Amino acid sequence: MIFARVIADSNQARFSKVSTLQDLESFLKKMNLQRQAVILKPESCSKDEDFIFKGLSSSQQLRDAYLKLKNHFQRETFRIETDNRAHFYEERRSVICQCGLELVVKLRSLCPRCRSPGFSMTSFIKGLSCEVCGMETDPAKEEIWSCPNLACDYQEVKPRKDGLTGLTPAECDWCNP
Ligand SMILES: [Zn+2]
Ligand SMILES: [Zn+2]
Repeated sequence: MIFARVIADSNQARFSKVSTLQDLESFLKKMNLQRQAVILKPESCSKDEDFIFKGLSSSQQLRDAYLKLKNHFQRETFRIETDNRAHFYEERRSVICQCGLELVVKLRSLCPRCRSPGFSMTSFIKGLSCEVCGMETDPAKEEIWSCPNLACDYQEVKPRKDGLTGLTPAECDWCNP
């Protein structure tokens, strides 16, 4: 099986409790609803689909949903959370797109022995060493690339993709404790 993985560090998933219109407004100030829709629901009966408003992507929609809920459950606290379904989440769409591109790159990479697509880095060898004292550290010094075809199982040790061959003394625990 060939797959690609992209880890996004920009995850905007978050939630907030809302019991007044002011709470709602202050949440809105922190959000850009055009880029990231939200879900509003009562805290207590969060399973009742009739009272779960999803995909709210404008402050007007959010206020309307809030007023409907407030009419129904006067004393209730509500929960706003980001709607992380991809079609309501621009950030996530771009990560999915990036992941698709990675997959294309991977499929174009052929095993030097059997020509199977998907020849790629599967692990690495630790021990990038300091350029001055030569002490080995945890970061990778080389990459291990493997063929996904189990009948072939070809592996190759390659230099790091970023070309790094050593650590500067400033990054070394021995030279710069
Ligand atoms: Zn192969
Ligand atoms: Zn050193």
